[in-house]
Amino acid sequence: MTTLQSIELQCPVCDTRFASQSVVATNAFGGKRTDFHERAAGTQPLPYLVHMCRRCGYSGPERDFTEGCEPSPVVKEHVWNELAPTLAAVGEQSAGPNPPTDVVVPGSAKYEAAAKVAEWQLMEPRYIADFYLRAAWCCVDEGDVEAERFFRRKAAWMFERALASFDGVAREERCVVTYLIGELWRRIGDGPTATRWFDRVPEELIDRAAQQWVIDAARQQRDTPREWFG
Ligand SMILES: [Zn+2]
Repeated sequence: MTTLQSIELQCPVCDTRFASQSVVATNAFGGKRTDFHERAAGTQPLPYLVHMCRRCGYSGPERDFTEGCEPSPVVKEHVWNELAPTLAAVGEQSAGPNPPTDVVVPGSAKYEAAAKVAEWQLMEPRYIADFYLRAAWCCVDEGDVEAERFFRRKAAWMFERALASFDGVAREERCVVTYLIGELWRRIGDGPTATRWFDRVPEELIDRAAQQWVIDAARQQRDTPREWFG
């Protein structure tokens, strides 16, 4: 089962101290979807691997709240202008105290905010793409199909940017990232684009022994798609 613990974080943007939940232990007994979405038995850990300040909306993994993490003035300004207002709206709806620590922010919203923070911090597209992918995965559990597609698109575009940039993806990972882009478009419902990406997978092969499974997965998802690996 997944074990959570309460941690106290201090926001590097507004200095607010707040409690959040983090993952102590989890499992992969729930299987793995063909977009690498690993499922746990019991509580899904994903929403607890990212944290959001309830006062200003600054979000990221735990390391983004550690001492020495000092967002630039430009990043802080973006947070106050673009994340804080949306959070205030959530707080008003719930009529909670201010700051609304009792508001449960969905995992997808936390990952979307973390993706924006990462973009303002000029992080690599590959790093940002992963937040959007996780936002999409959270939407699966939240039952929000529209938002899931929205975040899958964001993730696909960002992974495409990573592949297009010099050194954006390690040579040995280009194969699997190309496959993932295909699978994202397939799950968005854009078959032709998915096929184009699946067909590019063999071009990225550098180690047949280690990567044959990616070639096989791309062919399978193009011709007779499956929901789960294994
Ligand atoms: Zn804050």
